Amino acid sequence: MEKYDLKENMLDFIDRQKILSLIKDEKTPTKEEVRDIIKKSIEVSEALDLSDVAKLIKVNDKDMLEEIYQAAADVKKKVYDNRVVTFAPLYASNLCVNNCLYCGFRRDNKDIIRRTLSQKEIYEEARVLAGDIGHKRLIFVVGEHPASGADYIADSLKIIYSVKVKTKNGYGQIRRVNVNAAPMSVDDLKKIKAAGIGTFQVFQETYDKELYSRLHPKNTPKSDFNYRLYALHRAFEAGIDDVAIGALFGLGDWRFEVLGLVQHAKELERIFGIGPHTVSFPRLERASGSELVGTAVSNDDFKKLVAILRLSIPYSGIIVTCRETPEVIRSIIPFCTQRDASTKIGIGAYSERKNSQELNRQQFELGDTRKLDEVIGELADMGYITSFCTSGYRCGRTGDHIMKLLKSGVESRFCKLNAILTFREWLDDFASDEVKKKGEKLIEKELDEVLKDNKRFTPEMKKTLTTYYEKIRSGERDLSF
Ligand code: SF4
Repeated sequence: MEKYDLKENMLDFIDRQKILSLIKDEKTPTKEEVRDIIKKSIEVSEALDLSDVAKLIKVNDKDMLEEIYQAAADVKKKVYDNRVVTFAPLYASNLCVNNCLYCGFRRDNKDIIRRTLSQKEIYEEARVLAGDIGHKRLIFVVGEHPASGADYIADSLKIIYSVKVKTKNGYGQIRRVNVNAAPMSVDDLKKIKAAGIGTFQVFQETYDKELYSRLHPKNTPKSDFNYRLYALHRAFEAGIDDVAIGALFGLGDWRFEVLGLVQHAKELERIFGIGPHTVSFPRLERASGSELVGTAVSNDDFKKLVAILRLSIPYSGIIVTCRETPEVIRSIIPFCTQRDASTKIGIGAYSERKNSQELNRQQFELGDTRKLDEVIGELADMGYITSFCTSGYRCGRTGDHIMKLLKSGVESRFCKLNAILTFREWLDDFASDEVKKKGEKLIEKELDEVLKDNKRFTPEMKKTLTTYYEKIRSGERDLSF
């Protein structure tokens, strides 16, 4: 790791002028240039140079765009195989000291019902998610407030990991909890590291510093652009080597945010030798008490920007969420590695059986409120296996170790094997009859592929897979590579 002094070097590493001039001056690339850039991406070594990303942004030719979409799908398949990991968000508190103009949780919004879940209520939420729906992976979300600081988050992680619920054929548990919270000090981050955090997510919202200062009022902690920009540097210093970046698309020019995200990834690569584990690209949605009208990102531009992100940071996971409609999700799922389902974002909404949309309790409006069972059935129809894998984290496949495996394409083998095993668990415990039938067919195909493939899978791997598979069928859980 490059020697890095957080206190002295908190300079803005997002080069606003460079990004603006790339957007303005970069020429539309030739076919050959686009193909060369795609080739670099498929090699999956590091994030693309900003000038290459700017060139991809300039492409508007329909055929060239199709090539970009195909390449984005190929990169995803090479790095992560044809699996899609599912997760659910757990919103634990909507108290917030900030006043971001686009957000339903902001301090001055009087229309929202405020609440912070107690540890007992968090246990109940996790019990429903693990025992009734079948999730294994959560993203724990809180606003920025003393009531939901590092101690609260650490206690919540411990309580969530303690849940163990009897299911039809085994038991349900949450095996990985990622956290989306405000930027923190290194000491606070150490507390949540000790409690077993998976990935730490901090989204910059916008990488355009001028726009950022207009959206985040001066008298709030979030107005400090650079403190937020260095949130993940501090995470690394605290020993959290799984970090996630994101931007809220629709606040400003989407092209700026794509280039900002890539510059952020390159900065992490440069300093720590590891880029972001995942990248998110939520689009601005209607929110309680917010009048803000952003710069709408059309569905076509959205598909293009997700494909470009896929190619630009080829080793990272790419997350689409239920903010988007089913139709939009279907259009970009070939590039994505994770999605949520059965999502409720009202505080306490899983255990209290609230409707999935309650704008006066949640941060924004959802576009996809379908149940996990239905989503899994649809993914199976499209040829994607749903994975509940959380093993990379527990087997030490994190940080630079997982980066090497992802870049070499080796991790995709584990993705495939663990998708089969965890999908089997879910089918036996939670699937409807209809989805079970579809899932069984898909699992047969996947098993067949593994057993016939002598290049990627050794005889030991195949033997272990068969043994684990049979054990899972008879009720054992959490067996993985
Ligand atoms: S975006 Fe985050 S920090 Fe800003 S008001 Fe909403 S919850 Fe608070």
